[in-house]
Amino acid sequence: MTLAVAAVVSAASFSPNLANAVSNQEIQQKKNEISNIKSKQSSVQKQMNEADQKIKHLQAEQDKLTQEIKKLDMAVSETSGKIHEKSQQIEETKQNIEVLKQQIAEVQARIEKRNELLKQRVRSLQESGGVISYLDVLLGAQSFSDFIDRISAVTTIFEADKQIIKEQEADKALKKEKEKELTTNLANLERDLKELEQLKQTLNVQISQKEKLMKNLEHQEEELHEEKLALEEEKELLEKQEAAMRSQLQQLIERQKAERARQNTTSNSSSSGAGNVPPITNGAFMRPANGPVTSEFGPRWGKFHYGIDIGKRGSSAPIVAAADGYVFRSYYSDTYGNVVFITHVIDGQLYTTVYAHLESRLVGEGQTVSKGQMIGYMGNTGRSTAAHLHFELHRGPWNAAKSNAVNPRNYINF
Ligand SMILES: [Zn+2]
Repeated sequence: MTLAVAAVVSAASFSPNLANAVSNQEIQQKKNEISNIKSKQSSVQKQMNEADQKIKHLQAEQDKLTQEIKKLDMAVSETSGKIHEKSQQIEETKQNIEVLKQQIAEVQARIEKRNELLKQRVRSLQESGGVISYLDVLLGAQSFSDFIDRISAVTTIFEADKQIIKEQEADKALKKEKEKELTTNLANLERDLKELEQLKQTLNVQISQKEKLMKNLEHQEEELHEEKLALEEEKELLEKQEAAMRSQLQQLIERQKAERARQNTTSNSSSSGAGNVPPITNGAFMRPANGPVTSEFGPRWGKFHYGIDIGKRGSSAPIVAAADGYVFRSYYSDTYGNVVFITHVIDGQLYTTVYAHLESRLVGEGQTVSKGQMIGYMGNTGRSTAAHLHFELHRGPWNAAKSNAVNPRNYINF
């Protein structure tokens, strides 16, 4: 019994020891495991933090890039506007110069003709003995009435000579004045051409800066040319569209009727100096710009391209309204760049057209436009890597899902 107790006691006192030894090891192991996991967790957390940090950094960088692109787009638009203006000024000065040259030539011809006349006068005076011949004429009078006749004849000749000389002097002064004006005009032309050259250089610098920024952005962002608007932008667009549709629809129908009547009687005069404006064609819609189609409506790069792209050819490509309509949105969008939204009512059906990436916009919100009217110039603003027009046609109102988008080719012969 005591043995048994002793055995139990000894067993009891031994076995906990044994159990303790194992559990210590186990505990140590567990502790190690836990600290392992903990360090793993903290390293994961660290990585997550780093990733978060990176994402935040990238987003900030993207925001910065977007801001810079926006700024550059504005600068490009402004410079391009100045170039259009300067080119027009140069054209006007050139015309002025032509007019002045012609005026100078006319005055010069008059001066030469009169010079010839005066030379003949001097010659005949010299041949007849100069001024004395006047006296001779007078002294040769046969009677008093003959003397009076001769006086009036001499006076008439004398006055005529004086008049010719006066006119000659006036013309010489006029010529001098015109020549001075011409010199000023030529100097202005020289200066304007130089300024134009500088503007073009500035524009090139701005464009290459944008290209660089877009390359950076491209690097960070796989999806380019994905015209997805910010929610706020979308909300505003829809609100304005609704307002436009509500209040302008009736008015639009009436205006269109009046405009069509007017268009039938008067020929269309597109704004001068624009050049390269697409001709107005029959049908509900016309092509909004000249140039080749560079991207079709349809699936593209695993996405759907809801518009048609027209590439830029030449130094300036005007964009026109595809049909009579009402501009309900004209603004700068981070994605679309300078963009114009127009609603149209054609045979009672509502359509919406979108003109994106414009260099500059020539129409404002609330403005009525007629088919073929210039609304801007083709550009490379927003998420765009090359100058082109992104043109969308919606049968019905515009919506964010672009569910009303239709292939413009079904309406327009590009
Ligand atoms: Zn496009």
